[in-house]
Formats: sequence, C-alpha cells, structure tokens
Amino acid sequence: MTRFFSDLELREEHEALLRRHGEETYPEEACGFLIGPHPVPGELRRVVDAVVRAENEKRSERTHRFLINPDQLRHLEQYWESKGRSVVGIYHSHPDHPAAPSQFDLEHAWPWYAYVLIGVDHGRAQKVAAFELDPDGAGWQPRPIVHPIPPLITER
Ligand SMILES: [Zn+2]
Repeated sequence: MTRFFSDLELREEHEALLRRHGEETYPEEACGFLIGPHPVPGELRRVVDAVVRAENEKRSERTHRFLINPDQLRHLEQYWESKGRSVVGIYHSHPDHPAAPSQFDLEHAWPWYAYVLIGVDHGRAQKVAAFELDPDGAGWQPRPIVHPIPPLITER
C-alpha cells in the first residue's frame, strides 16, 4: 500500500502550541496547518517547522466538527510555496474525545496530508497523535510523531 510518509517530525514547542490552541478554543474544535519543507520523493519523514492557526469555518456543531475552506488551503499553499515551504499537514482538536479520527474526519480528509489530532479532556490537552488517510480514502493509518533533538547549546 502506498504511504506518503512514515513518521512526522514535530518540535516539542510546536506540539505545545497545538495543545494550547486546543485548550483555548475548548469546548470547540481548534484547527490549523502544519508547514514544512517540501517533501522530496523517496523521503518518508515529514518535517514540520511552523504551525499556523486556522479559523474553524464550521458554523454549527463546532464542538465536534471542523471545516477548512479549500480556498483558504489553496491560498495558503500558494503563499508557502512562494517561501519554499509546503502545507504538509492539518491539525485539529477533539474536545472530550480521543485523539483519533472520526467518521466525519474520514469523509472530509484529503490524502497526502499529515493529520494531527489533539485530544482535549475537560479543557486540558491530552494525547497528540498523527495519522495518514489511506490512498483510497477508506481508513487511517497511525504514524509516529518524533521530536527532533534540540540543537546543542555550546558555550564560547
Ligand atoms: Zn476530528
């Protein structure tokens, strides 16, 4: 089966930003974009080096639904492309639900992107997990999140 990436490299400070976003919008869902270098063919590690918050475009049921406007996504992709970066993933929170994709998520996801979910329990962020949509759109595969080792600080 085709896979678009094997694991997702996400800095701890970026993961902390996703957690905070999920806590701030609680009890509604938070959503946004993961930005990183354009993946080169054959490179299976997906790297995130920036996170961008998005507005939840859903006008109802925001406690358990989120919607990303495809026009917004296309504009963002063009913007980041011009900066030598790509939208490599999409994140959203699950207020009082586990960090696992829902049926709604399955029906509204696009292949290729890394999907990151933040479980928020009673206003406190819990598990953060990454998934990839199967190429046929029928299901999800969990993908490990790896935290890069921070650069060493050397004394002069
Ligand atoms: Zn969801």
